[in-house]
Amino acid sequence: MKIEKDQIQIKREKSLEDDNQSYFWIKSEGEKKLATENLVPGNQVYKEKLIINRGIEYRLWDAFRSKLAASIMNDLKNFPFENKTKVLYLGASTGTTVSHISDIVGPSGVIFAVEHASRVARDFLDRVAGYRKNVIPILQDARRPKEYFSVFGKVDVVYVDIAQPDQTEIAINNCKMFLKKGGYFFLVIKTRSIDVTKAPKRIIEEEIKKLEEKFEVLQNIDLHPYDKDHAMVIAKYNG
Ligand code: SAM
Repeated sequence: MKIEKDQIQIKREKSLEDDNQSYFWIKSEGEKKLATENLVPGNQVYKEKLIINRGIEYRLWDAFRSKLAASIMNDLKNFPFENKTKVLYLGASTGTTVSHISDIVGPSGVIFAVEHASRVARDFLDRVAGYRKNVIPILQDARRPKEYFSVFGKVDVVYVDIAQPDQTEIAINNCKMFLKKGGYFFLVIKTRSIDVTKAPKRIIEEEIKKLEEKFEVLQNIDLHPYDKDHAMVIAKYNG
């Protein structure tokens, strides 16, 4: 594991919602790179670079590996993840993005991380949930939110990245059960997995239409060049 100690220019990026410092810009190899403060110093999740500055360890956040990072790179306007935020995350996979959200929400925040594939979930436990007390793994199908026995109370953000044809319906059902009124909803739309015959723009428009009754859609971000086949839709829940 390589930890760099000679990086200096750390610029604190303010959340657009308020003054909290959720993520950071670090100059590394001549480029401005996104990073989060490592909640578990010394611990790497996906071989990301660790950088120490003034005694604080940061993890570079790779926009080619995380669609939330790609959204930030592509001008995400609302970033509701901050210290103490409660998140329901569907499609945790091996935990790349969950780990950065875990850095951001800190020890008083919580991420209920749902993943249905047991092999993937095992990796997730080994790499992420086992080291991070603010991550609660839920080995369940997101189609059955009533079976998430460990979720308590309502959450501030629901984040969905499950690449299923009926993902928007699954996401809406989860929001109805767990998202607080006025909470934020992040939906990754994998345009090709929904219907291979339709143009991506049309697929996104159709998915957004399904949200209109209960949500105010705030932004729709094309994740190019970080991710060719996905868009991120951000919405606010009207309850
Ligand atoms: N969000 C992850 C990240 O940024 O690191 C990547 C998620 S990956 C594209 C999609 C994940 O959703 C897979 O691990 C898959 O097993 C999981 N998934 C798909 N359908 C699901 C369902 N119905 N319930 C729970 N997890 C599901």
